[in-house]
Amino acid sequence: MTETCAVDFHCHLDLYPDMEAAYRKCGNSGCETLAVTTTPKAFARNQLYARQFQNIHVALGLHPQAVASRASEVAIFEQMIASTRFVGEVGLDATRVHYSSFEIQKKVFDRILKACFDNGGKILSIHSARCAKHVLDAIERSKVHKNCNVILHWFSASRSEIRRATEMGCWFSVNSTLLQTDAGNRLLAAIPKSRLLTETDGPFIEVEGRPIRPGEVEDTLTKIADYFKIEPLRVHTLIHENVTSLLQS
Ligand code: MN
Repeated sequence: MTETCAVDFHCHLDLYPDMEAAYRKCGNSGCETLAVTTTPKAFARNQLYARQFQNIHVALGLHPQAVASRASEVAIFEQMIASTRFVGEVGLDATRVHYSSFEIQKKVFDRILKACFDNGGKILSIHSARCAKHVLDAIERSKVHKNCNVILHWFSASRSEIRRATEMGCWFSVNSTLLQTDAGNRLLAAIPKSRLLTETDGPFIEVEGRPIRPGEVEDTLTKIADYFKIEPLRVHTLIHENVTSLLQS
């Protein structure tokens, strides 16, 4: 890891049309990357592509939007959890399209958090759409924040929910789209700078009509710099220090 490399701590490298090329480019760029997955079955293939790159960390995931059709795969997640330090994408999604599976999502998420707590020492990237309170309740019940590092990804929440997450010691990964919203500004205003990370959530965010590239966080760094009225280079260094301390914890 060098100081000039980007930090992309939530990216779906396996959802780019050419997964192998996405891994190769990202690996060679040196970008410190959390490669999240959406099902436990996808984990092994991602590990295969990532193994030659020290800067790519593959996370074991079961995306809340996949739970409606893949809830049974939580058993595979539980079998595999001991083999990895990184977990994601997991969480809850209460948006209209996915609300019909919310009850089963909660059961699956509780099992995932329990597996993480029972093992300890994990780094989790957690999705929360329209249900910040439910996500924080589940984390607190599981006590996973006591022995793991929890990163709230794209966290759109109220001021009091952000305060609660901060008091629980959570990390926050932000992208350029989140930072265009009031929720993004609320987050920057309230969280410790030492808990801030950058992400792309690629390929789901669009830039100039194309999917954002892995590690394409310049705009996010600029927005953070503008918010704090400091130089983008200082933000770059800050985010680098943060991910280093996270990985060394
Ligand atoms: Mn994602």
